[in-house]
Amino acid sequence: MDKENTADTLNDNSVAEVKESKNFIEQIIDNDLEQGKVSSIVTRFPPEPNGYLHIGHAKSILLNYGIAQEYGGRFNMRFDDTNPGKEKEEFANSIIEDVKWLGAKWDGDILYASDYFEKMYEAAVTLIKKGKAFVCDLTADEIREYRGTLTEPGKESPYRNRSIEENLKLFEEMKNGVYEDGARVLRAKIDMAAPNINMRDPVIYRIAHLSHHRTGDKWCIYPMYDLAHPLEDAFEGITHSLCTLEFEDHRPLYDWVVENVGFEHPPQQIEFAKLYLKNVVTGKRYIKKLVEDGIVDGWNDPRLVSISGLRRRGYTPESIRKFVELVGVTKAQGEVEFPMLEYCVREDLKLSAKRIMAVLDPVKVVIDNYPEGGTEMLTVPNNTENPELGERSVPFSKEIYIEREDFMEDPPKKYFRLFPGNEVRLMNAYFVKCTGFEKDESGNISVIHCEYDPATRGGNSTERKVKGTIHWVSAQHAVKAPVRLYENIVDEEKGVYDEEGNLNVNPNSLQIVENALFEPYVNEIQPGERFQFVRNGYFVSDIQDSKLKEPVFNRIVSLKSSFKLN
Ligand code: ATP
Ligand code: MG
Repeated sequence: MDKENTADTLNDNSVAEVKESKNFIEQIIDNDLEQGKVSSIVTRFPPEPNGYLHIGHAKSILLNYGIAQEYGGRFNMRFDDTNPGKEKEEFANSIIEDVKWLGAKWDGDILYASDYFEKMYEAAVTLIKKGKAFVCDLTADEIREYRGTLTEPGKESPYRNRSIEENLKLFEEMKNGVYEDGARVLRAKIDMAAPNINMRDPVIYRIAHLSHHRTGDKWCIYPMYDLAHPLEDAFEGITHSLCTLEFEDHRPLYDWVVENVGFEHPPQQIEFAKLYLKNVVTGKRYIKKLVEDGIVDGWNDPRLVSISGLRRRGYTPESIRKFVELVGVTKAQGEVEFPMLEYCVREDLKLSAKRIMAVLDPVKVVIDNYPEGGTEMLTVPNNTENPELGERSVPFSKEIYIEREDFMEDPPKKYFRLFPGNEVRLMNAYFVKCTGFEKDESGNISVIHCEYDPATRGGNSTERKVKGTIHWVSAQHAVKAPVRLYENIVDEEKGVYDEEGNLNVNPNSLQIVENALFEPYVNEIQPGERFQFVRNGYFVSDIQDSKLKEPVFNRIVSLKSSFKLN
């Protein structure tokens, strides 16, 4: 067996191992299928259109979509739009775009909880008719007082024993707009002494004279989440309703609703841990605050972990999918390091992105023995590790720019780049030896002088080796374009929030480099294209601010990291 085959066999084994170790949700589903509890799998992603999606939602989307795919089931995309006060069309549209971009494909049409308002109303009427719900006239404050505490049972509402007829009449009047907001609510009739406070006659419908972005003014009563969500799932035949841990205490109520309304095949709620990134602002509410406080420049600011921010920053859907896969699905809450996400995008771009030359902090080099006015075109591989990406032509001439930090007048030991008397390789071009330099009035290096060896064209020599390779751009052909370098918006040394709950903002989270110079190839770059700028990192041409021939670059990620996948 040759080496390559051995490697292949190993790979196959490791893939098999990964498949073997199913997560706890897959184990539950396997069991349900085995026992005949369900025959096919239906999952859903149920965002509320009250903000933009973030990396945490990506986990939920890809989990639900992935499960449906794995079991040959259905995946529903449903807007949980039962709270008209906070919801907007703008958010719904952005959510659709983000889910599509992540590559999750829902079955059938997009679904809306608001399409079920009539059926939800009927379900509430069913509960009333069964003596399982009542109209309550207590104020919100009174309801809170009556609810009791973790250590003390609650008190029953004086309206709890209204007759079914009276409840039906009052609930219909609530629907017909007879009452003001807050005058009355519909409550489930469960148990005011239940140890789980969620079961102490929870409110399931409220009056709110609000226009809904889809149903307009048709409704002035709206179902509460704890009623609406199980009903939505049950109406759609969802088999496994995957949600995050904060809903664990609501599960008894979820089960109560589907049982008491009466469904032949009730859905099952399963909770998993939310995705949290260390020292990163996640959570819709918190991202929203950064946007509203003007700390970032909109929901798609490349420093945010909103999906639209990550997209603009240059992250690929593949990298996010890989990340979510690495994070895995558990019940135990933990924090994930942001460098793991960076690792995933680096891995994705390593072979798929072209590698071009950009000098972010230029200093001029004159090659004194190169023909005066001469120019030549060098053929250069687009990605030395992936020949499929082809080649391009890069102009070379007597005057070039290199990175300022690639020259030192008086270098320490082990500095292998350019310094007087030293020879380096200009990447893909020639060997050059430094013969001298000039300084301006303030003592900064202004020009470096070199001589090249024409026999080393392409950057190769059979006679001698050089230790340093540096990149460059031809001065007369160089194109200028702004480059944005990003750091975490959070000051990582201080942590996310200060004692008063204000964000510890990193003042250097955005640095704009105005004088960066590029090889002329950048004039062909389309907005959204990603590259490696050799030795400087991975970059994307900003989808919002770039035009053809006028790119603006965002650094996605630098090349190196201390992060290691174990
Ligand atoms: P946030 O917690 O950011 O305010 P949310 O839970 O209010 O978000 P929804 O639109 O209600 O946002 O969420 C849609 C789905 O995404 C829900 O099933 C929710 O549990 C899930 N989800 C939200 N945040 C995360 C997260 N950090 N990790 C995994 N899943 C999440
Ligand atoms: Mg929510």
